[in-house]
Amino acid sequence: MALNGAGKGPELKEAAQPALIKKAQGAPGTLSEREEAQLMAEAEPFVRFHLLEDLLNAARANSLWPLTFGLACCAIEMMAAGAAKYDLDRFGAGVFRPSARQADVMIFAGTISRKMGPVIKALWDQMPSPKWAIAMGGCTIDGGPFKYPNQYAIYEGADKLVPVDVYIPGCPPRPEALINGILELQNKIKAGRRFKPSTHEGPIPIAKAERTNAPTGRKVKG
Ligand code: SF4
Repeated sequence: MALNGAGKGPELKEAAQPALIKKAQGAPGTLSEREEAQLMAEAEPFVRFHLLEDLLNAARANSLWPLTFGLACCAIEMMAAGAAKYDLDRFGAGVFRPSARQADVMIFAGTISRKMGPVIKALWDQMPSPKWAIAMGGCTIDGGPFKYPNQYAIYEGADKLVPVDVYIPGCPPRPEALINGILELQNKIKAGRRFKPSTHEGPIPIAKAERTNAPTGRKVKG
C-alpha cells in the first residue's frame, strides 16, 4: 500500500507517516478521527469495498422479505400481487414472513389508524436492519379519503411513523403498481443509496389524539 501522500497536499503527507500505520497496528482503536480519515483517504485507491457492497446490495434487493401485514382495503391488492396471477416471487419479493424479526420490508397497505400506531412502531423496531418501507395507496401517503380538518382517527401518512422509501399512489393501487414500487425499491437498494430520514415523530398517544379533537367535541374511547 502506497502511503507516501504524494500529490495530496500537506495534510496527507503528514498522515502518510509510517508511524500512523504502526500506531493503528499496535493499538487498534487509538487513532483519532482525523487520523482515521486520513488513513482511509490514503488507502481508498488500493482497498476497494465497492464490489462487496454492490454484491450485498444485489443480494438484498433480489431477496426482499415483506412482513405479512395489512391495514385495510389496499391489503387486498397486496394479496393479489402475491398470488398466482401476478406472482411476486418472480421478483424475489414473494416470501411474506409472519414474524417481523424475519422481514426486511414493511408494506403499508391501508388506512393507518391511531390505535395501530404503537403496534406498527413495535413491529418496525423488531425488524432487523437494513429494512425498508413502502407506502401503498393514498391513505399511507397523506391520509387519502380520510383526511379532513380536525380528524382524529388516522395518521396522515406512513412517514409519520417510519421512514418511507417508496410511495405508490392510488386508491387502491393495482397489483402492477405494487410490483412497480418493489422494482423501484430494488433499484434504490442496488444503487446503494440510503434514503432520506423522514420527519419521524413516533406514534402519537391516544390521549393527544383526544386533545386535538377538542374543537369538534367528540371523544375517542380506548
Ligand atoms: S387508499 Fe383507498 S383502497 Fe387503499 S386503504 Fe385507503 S381507502 Fe382503502
